Amino acid sequence: MFTFEHIEKHGEHEEVIFCHNKKAGLKAIIAIHNTTLGPALGGTRMWNYASEEDALVDVLRLSKGMTYKAAAAGLNLGGGKAVIIGDSKTQKTEAMFRAFGTYVNSLQGKYITAEDVGTTVKDMEYVFMETPFVTGIPVAFGGSGDPSPYTAHGTLMGIKAVVKEKYGSDSLQDVKVAVQGLGNVGSNLVDFLVKEGAVVSIADIDQDKVKMISEKHNLKVEDPNGIITSECDVFAPCALGAVINDDTIGNLKCKMIAGGANNILAESKHGDQLMELGILYAPDYVVNAGGLMNVFVELEGYSSDRAFEKTTQVFDNLMHVFKIAKDENIPTQKAADRLAERRIDEIGSLRKQHHGRTARPFSTLKEMTTRQK
Ligand code: NAD
Repeated sequence: MFTFEHIEKHGEHEEVIFCHNKKAGLKAIIAIHNTTLGPALGGTRMWNYASEEDALVDVLRLSKGMTYKAAAAGLNLGGGKAVIIGDSKTQKTEAMFRAFGTYVNSLQGKYITAEDVGTTVKDMEYVFMETPFVTGIPVAFGGSGDPSPYTAHGTLMGIKAVVKEKYGSDSLQDVKVAVQGLGNVGSNLVDFLVKEGAVVSIADIDQDKVKMISEKHNLKVEDPNGIITSECDVFAPCALGAVINDDTIGNLKCKMIAGGANNILAESKHGDQLMELGILYAPDYVVNAGGLMNVFVELEGYSSDRAFEKTTQVFDNLMHVFKIAKDENIPTQKAADRLAERRIDEIGSLRKQHHGRTARPFSTLKEMTTRQK
């Protein structure tokens, strides 16, 4: 395991913490990528990694992604992530998550955790017993609960932004939108789209979900893979990553792509090709930032109305990305990275002269949220 080599290769992280408690069965890694804009926020993933090296590479990659997502979203947050090595179905215990909570607490708010793949609100309750630096806790504890409706609302804003950029108006009346995946994000998105007067087609591999939603709104049903290349204005991937790949890109019939899924492009070159094809791509991490905005509001003292209001920012963020892409004649996925990097650079250089209020670690969550405001 060549740890420092990995850290250099995957993005100059500020700090990587290995957490080990044999009695509690805890093996975890916390990666803090960048805290220029604020505390590093990112969920804790529990996964049965094939090797510890795989876990390290994953946490380095995911934490860097969070830095870009928070920066492009305009939030005062940095990027971090944690992974717990183990089987989330059979190996979870109270002691494991409380032991993990003590490590999070030792970072004094430099890293704030949340749920992710393989972890639940219940697990975060255990973490919360040992540290206040956790979000996504139950509504009963003042938390924000399920982020999916906010991610879906941000995605709706993303769809409005691509339509505005392409057609000159953000009205979705009679605009054909093809939604792939009817899970937590996709099902909420369909409700929003129908309300806006869009002509929605849907697909999922789970036929029960397809039946329920098509009957609720009387929608056209497509084949789960065929929907990618169906005739529509906007293709909205809300299921898997890498749906725009060597096999699909030549057959696309949409004019725009904006969806809630992570890692929509199999490789960055596919974003370059979309630009050549004249298909407007809304970079995924800018579109699906609504969930992150929702937990950010939790840090300030949660209000659902304020969280929904905050997700409307996705529209302006994307218009900014499209402007950079046009001005600099670059594909939108590269423009999004530039937007994030410039914000980190500009705010970071301000603080080289004088420390701002989010420039040092916090000793309590209250102190942190007071300084964030
Ligand atoms: P989910 O598991 O609730 O839903 C995914 C849905 O996609 C399921 O209904 C599944 O049956 C369907 N699906 C799987 N393979 C498919 C295929 N080949 N064709 C069609 N449908 C298929 O997940 P979710 O929470 O709705 O998240 C959806 C996507 O959005 C994921 O990529 C996730 O990483 C991303 N995302 C979610 C959030 C959030 O707040 N939940 C935030 C940011 C990003």
